[in-house]
Amino acid sequence: MLYHLKIKAFTTYSGVTQDISLSYQLFGPELHSAPIVLVNHALTGNSNVTGKDGWWSSLIGEGKCIDTKKYTILAFNVPGNGYDGFVIDNYKDFVAGDMARIFLLGLESLGINRLFAIIGGSLGGGIAWEMAALDPGLTEHLIPVASDWKSTDWLIANCQIQEQFLVNSKQPVHDARMHAMLCYRTPESFKQRFQRSTNEELQVFNVESWLMHHGKKLQERFQLSAYKLTNQLLKTIDITRKGEAAFVNLQNSSTNIHIIGVDSDLFFTAKENKETYKQLAQANSNVTYGEIQSVHGHDAFLIEFEQIQKLLKTIFDQNGRSRRVKVLKFGGTSLANGEGIGRVLEIVCGKVAAGDNVVVVLSAREKATDQLEVILEKAASGRDYRKDFEAFETYQKHSFHNVNLSAEFRELASLFEGVALLGDYSLKTKDQVLAYGELIAAKLITKLLIGKGVKAVLLDTRELIKTDSNFGEAKVLESLSKEMVLKAFSRLEPDDVPVFTGFIASTRAGETTTLGRNGSNYTASLLANFLDAQELQNYTHVDGIFTANPELVPEAQKISQLSYSEANELANFGATILHAKTIIPLLEKNIPLRILNTFNHDGEGTLISAKSGTEGIKSLSVIENEALINLEGRGLLGKVGVDARIFKALGQNNINVGIISQGSSERGIGLVVASDKARQARAVLEAEFEDAFQSQDINAISIIEDVSVISIIGQDLSTFHKPFNA
Ligand code: ASP
Ligand code: MG
Repeated sequence: MLYHLKIKAFTTYSGVTQDISLSYQLFGPELHSAPIVLVNHALTGNSNVTGKDGWWSSLIGEGKCIDTKKYTILAFNVPGNGYDGFVIDNYKDFVAGDMARIFLLGLESLGINRLFAIIGGSLGGGIAWEMAALDPGLTEHLIPVASDWKSTDWLIANCQIQEQFLVNSKQPVHDARMHAMLCYRTPESFKQRFQRSTNEELQVFNVESWLMHHGKKLQERFQLSAYKLTNQLLKTIDITRKGEAAFVNLQNSSTNIHIIGVDSDLFFTAKENKETYKQLAQANSNVTYGEIQSVHGHDAFLIEFEQIQKLLKTIFDQNGRSRRVKVLKFGGTSLANGEGIGRVLEIVCGKVAAGDNVVVVLSAREKATDQLEVILEKAASGRDYRKDFEAFETYQKHSFHNVNLSAEFRELASLFEGVALLGDYSLKTKDQVLAYGELIAAKLITKLLIGKGVKAVLLDTRELIKTDSNFGEAKVLESLSKEMVLKAFSRLEPDDVPVFTGFIASTRAGETTTLGRNGSNYTASLLANFLDAQELQNYTHVDGIFTANPELVPEAQKISQLSYSEANELANFGATILHAKTIIPLLEKNIPLRILNTFNHDGEGTLISAKSGTEGIKSLSVIENEALINLEGRGLLGKVGVDARIFKALGQNNINVGIISQGSSERGIGLVVASDKARQARAVLEAEFEDAFQSQDINAISIIEDVSVISIIGQDLSTFHKPFNA
């Protein structure tokens, strides 16, 4: 049913005043009884967005991606679109922003001051941008599809040609439409469809008869005045027509902006969409960019429904939880017996009760990984490991008698027996053993959560995250892993709370691998990336990131905000809170990371996002257990390629160099490597530079043990002159 509103004496941006008739349709629950989704139609569309002849029925409807059982759908007709009999002849007086203002007035007269989402394709997306810019507090989500906040030059040019057809042609709508079809689609899409085939009867190419057909069809159903108007609107989208402030306001608003582009769109190009994304993302994390891959060009937003649904799923979630997921990661100390584990259960249960859409990622409990390492070492060297193993088992089982961990301990026992028999173990076996830290933790917490009424589901990342076979520090195969994670995720029930094991993964062949020590943070950020999370909350046993290690420097201060790049520096230089790779997957999707304290509910923690806090030095950090290798020799002076040889030799032996230093005299080179690699590094270098020893270009390679690396993290080297007190 079509409803009507009167907007009296509306004055356009161009200064013309007239009465406007605004019609709309409603679908789903009665207005004001459910969250409202406003759908803005495209050029030749209308308010009939769902149902039998609805132009977005594939996306909107009962049980569809935008579910009319859950959301009230409101769709206005662009006044003058011809659907309701109202005509605008003075189309030149209107710009897209006028329609946005009329829609806002419409909302006002319907008593709507908050929307769950505004979604629109093409022109509808442009009007959506304009509405959100005019009223940045209006909607929780803004979803422009195949659109942008401004008409592009190419689009403006095409609209100009369209206008020429509309004004000059004998069959204006017909001819304009034929031309427009070229720009809505792409050369590839024509080729795929027609293959130069001909229509024998009509003696024309099929592409020609297809164009004629579209021209004729539109002519039959669309009015000239409506086409002139919507064409004019399409080329006048620009939220900055009254200055940059509108863009900045939107940038700073809490609207979640989900830009959906089409890789082959000629009108609103993917490239310009990505630029918009970047510009917005610099200031705020609540913007995402998703891309429809299609040969069909701009029209993909009316064709590629499956892809659009996937991109919209996290926003409208068919399961009744509309919010994007929050990934909660808990570290070892948080999962320790006693207060820790109790708090973890409390936190998860609290969030679930509050309706948050949570995903849990766990590391091993307490010092499990270290302990497993020690036991393994003892078993391999023929020492008695059984006592340690028993102590480990007692601790892990604690008083949780209802949780059966016997299978895990049996498997561990047989792995240790094997190692004891052989007197040795491979890195592959070590990964198999260490994995049990996380497996036990995840199984236990899953069961305990179930006991508390949460529908927790254990997801073993050995089955979901795939890596190469670099055991101990395996590299993740991202697209394969993403696919597998998303598949597993889509099989979950609406109220399931997945509990993922951190740190562990497997090769394509199914052999267990690990992602490097402290790797569960990395697992969590990968999952956050794959699932397009709203935020990653990393629960630790400290209040956040400090200006220095509080255990070493009592005056250390908590940092409330860091930028990704500052955090990345910290990660590389020893803040064990962050695995060195943690930041990258977050950065890519602009997902904020919050470091929180499991034991201190009230703390705000440290927020790591696109924004940085105040200027200056942020933190000092210390990496211990490093060694300095010194190559000394007068002959190094002026020699070309010495550094390259050093790195190549060490690289081939898988020895990572943290820092190098070289005096300008070039009489020596210092390299920082991990302590346990120092001897091997020296041997490798001695072999590599055997000739240089003989020629006495190098006279010594020495090791200085027990080095610590102190790093200073700041935003800007220019502030370096300021006195700094950690
Ligand atoms: N349990 C693993 C470790 O201790 C991974 C982690 O805790 O992040 O290194
Ligand atoms: Mg840990």
